[in-house]
Amino acid sequence: MQIEKIDVGIVGAGPAGLSAGLALANNGYKTTIFEEHKIVGIPIQCGEGISEKVFIEFPILKTNKEFIIRKFGNTKIYFPGDYTVFGDTHAYMIRRDKFDQFLAQQVKKSGGKILTNSRVIDAIETKEGVKIKIKKDGTEQLFLSSVLLIAEGPKGDIARKLGFNTPELIRALEYRIQGEFSDTMEFFFDNEKYPFGYSWIFPRNNETNVGVVTTAKNRKEILDKFLKERNISGKIIKKIGGSIPKNGVVKQLATQKIALIGDTGGFTNPLFYGGIRNAMLSGKIVADIIDFQRKNEKKVDLRTFDKKVRKHPFSAKISIKSHKYFYTRSVNFQKKIGKVFNGTYINRIENKELLKYLLKLVCNPILIKNPKKLYWLYKGFKQARDYGF
Ligand SMILES: Cc1cc2nc3c(=O)[nH]c(=O)nc-3n(C[C@H](O)[C@H](O)[C@H](O)COP(=O)(O)OP(=O)(O)OC[C@H]3O[C@@H](n4cnc5c(N)ncnc54)[C@H](O)[C@@H]3O)c2cc1C
Repeated sequence: MQIEKIDVGIVGAGPAGLSAGLALANNGYKTTIFEEHKIVGIPIQCGEGISEKVFIEFPILKTNKEFIIRKFGNTKIYFPGDYTVFGDTHAYMIRRDKFDQFLAQQVKKSGGKILTNSRVIDAIETKEGVKIKIKKDGTEQLFLSSVLLIAEGPKGDIARKLGFNTPELIRALEYRIQGEFSDTMEFFFDNEKYPFGYSWIFPRNNETNVGVVTTAKNRKEILDKFLKERNISGKIIKKIGGSIPKNGVVKQLATQKIALIGDTGGFTNPLFYGGIRNAMLSGKIVADIIDFQRKNEKKVDLRTFDKKVRKHPFSAKISIKSHKYFYTRSVNFQKKIGKVFNGTYINRIENKELLKYLLKLVCNPILIKNPKKLYWLYKGFKQARDYGF
């Protein structure tokens, strides 16, 4: 069988693979992305919310309006008892299929290749490079790549085949519903109703994505109940299910020639589970390392990525600590947190104000039981504000 030589092979044309592919193709590397589906971006498995910060980090996104549905100036977080906390988080609703397709177009424009309908079925790291076996339209093909980036999403089959541990996953279920049921993005926490997760309402235009992410098995029942509680009664146009990494970045992210990026590496925020932007950032970071090493050190060693990316705030351990603490608290604890901050814009609390809220927390025996862990929570939510979705 003929073997095609490339500089970079990438498994998966999601945000992680596409952002890495774009940066590498732009720098002149012979880059091939393998995508098992016929069309990039389909099927959609996403709530379609994204922070506006992604437009600063990836200015190319500013050149396209087609994937943008609408912008929000704030978000609402509900705690048990309907206590509501606001955030000045500027965010967008995007058409996720169009978003991925736009990135794919840019990869191609920059000289990168995207092979659709091409499933990577095997990979092996050798002295000469990484041998990649794909199946395209029923036929097997071989590639030899200097490096391989695994951006195959949460399932991580190829990563596991290569001996990596893949992230622990949590499941999500979402309906796209006719009609608009909110004027902003809303998150509903309740550790009894949605263990280890939350429900959400993300309005599109004349449609709304309503979903739940939880470790509970009866997600459909939970989501249907949520719709009733919030009086959401439109026609369900689409049902979307999927898995999301739950506990942060995996232990080993790279060998010399192989790196895990995006969901495969566990780059989702452990409190809000958003991952599009973090996937793109992880892809860009590894691409920059490859470029730097090729130009300055002549030899690529992706273990540098493993070290560097762990220092980046989106992989901060504090997110895991706060995840573990927050999602194992009682509903009463969550209620009390909601009550303390009810009606406030949480990110506007500063200096003197902060002291006032600290006092309120300190006066609350159930909250102040463990001040260190309460601090983790504060830091974790701060982190989530910056890298939650
Ligand atoms: C229901 C749901 C709602 C979500 N909502 C949001 C949200 O609102 N905001 C947010 O930021 N994040 C959200 N997320 C998370 C977000 O979708 C992911 O974090 C993000 O898609 C990760 O990007 P990725 O490129 O790592 O993986 P993916 O987007 O999963 O892309 C992986 C790609 O690899 C391909 N592939 C897999 N195996 C192979 C193979 N062997 N060969 C070739 N191709 C392969 C797949 O077909 C896929 O195209 C949500 C997730 C779910 C499930």
